[in-house]
Amino acid sequence: MISVAEALQLIEQETGILEKETIPLRNSLNRILAEDIISPIDMPPFAQSAMDGYAINRSGTTQSNFTLIGEIKAGDDASSVQIGNGEAVRIFTGGMVPASAVSVVKQEIVERNGSEINIAGNFTNGENIRPKGEQVAKGALAATKGTRLSPGTVGYLTGLGIETVVVTRLPKIAIIVTGNELIPTGEALTPGKIYESNAIMLKTALQTYGFECSVSKVLDDYEATKYMIAVTLKSNDLILLSGGISVGDYDFVGKALNELGTKEIFHKIKQKPGKPVYFGVNNKTSVFALPGNPASALTCFYVYVLKGLERLTGRIQPFIPLLEFELATDLIKKGNFRHFLKASVSGGIISPLPAQSSAMLSAFTNANAVLILPEEQEEFTRGTKVQAYLIN
Ligand code: AMP
Ligand code: MG
Repeated sequence: MISVAEALQLIEQETGILEKETIPLRNSLNRILAEDIISPIDMPPFAQSAMDGYAINRSGTTQSNFTLIGEIKAGDDASSVQIGNGEAVRIFTGGMVPASAVSVVKQEIVERNGSEINIAGNFTNGENIRPKGEQVAKGALAATKGTRLSPGTVGYLTGLGIETVVVTRLPKIAIIVTGNELIPTGEALTPGKIYESNAIMLKTALQTYGFECSVSKVLDDYEATKYMIAVTLKSNDLILLSGGISVGDYDFVGKALNELGTKEIFHKIKQKPGKPVYFGVNNKTSVFALPGNPASALTCFYVYVLKGLERLTGRIQPFIPLLEFELATDLIKKGNFRHFLKASVSGGIISPLPAQSSAMLSAFTNANAVLILPEEQEEFTRGTKVQAYLIN
């Protein structure tokens, strides 16, 4: 059995990046840049006033009286405005600062008397002027390949006049849930049956990160499972299977995947929950077979499937950050597996939640983190620094 670290490394190694496509920037939220973006313009495109005030020219540093010769508001072309020594121009935030201006003095420290102004406070040369190209110069790197298009990035690139971006195409994703015991909500529960919940859980987990998927269901039947996987493999980049990957007599997922020529990269990880998790590659399709226990499936989604999606899309920042927190309580862990606990983080302190069983999802309702108890350690004292993925 391999370790969590080995599994993560294998996913990175075995997952290729998807092709590129060009899309409108306005529809690019959460997509990943497939190429560096070089700025087509200087930003700002001209020296800009950062304040409402007065653009002044003076040769020394002591002069405080100036004669007003005009006004520049945002949007005005001020390229031909000349401010002579001892002169000032009324200017507003965003206004074009003439080359002859030495500073923009904010209006709060200026007394105005008709066409004369007196500066009452201190100011320095260059003050309140945003130089041309200060944010990014024409021809310079504006955004790096692998960056997620967040609202801030979309706004920034639009400010550079960019209308289309080259991104990795979205992966085609399919979920297949297995299990004879599963019935859809809306039907009455009959003895032995439970409501199927992993499909919607995984689908909404994918949606959280900007991905759509199809969903199919299959009974615990070898031929049916094999057929469903075969059909799904043809048109998807990523398949998430739920259930049927353990050692029971009716767990057919591993056998079917194998029979269909899937290259097994790993099956079983030294971890709790989610030990039976499987990862394989068939042609270029990545296949994760997640244990059916709902909390195992979701934990494996956060830890492994998101890693696969980072690779497929070429994303450089992780979907969920791995951060350090202080443990709120003493903890004992038995054995040398890595444990993932549903936990809640507040003010730098992390508290494991009750109901950690892999069959129970209730803890995820209050969880905003998945706490990591590393393999080598069995006893943890309150105040110890531990790592956790921040989810939600
Ligand atoms: P399995 O991995 O197929 O052995 O399933 C492990 C446990 O998870 C069993 O108790 C199943 O009933 C439960 N389970 C499997 N699939 C689902 C599902 N889609 N929704 C809810 N529970 C499930
Ligand atoms: Mg099952």
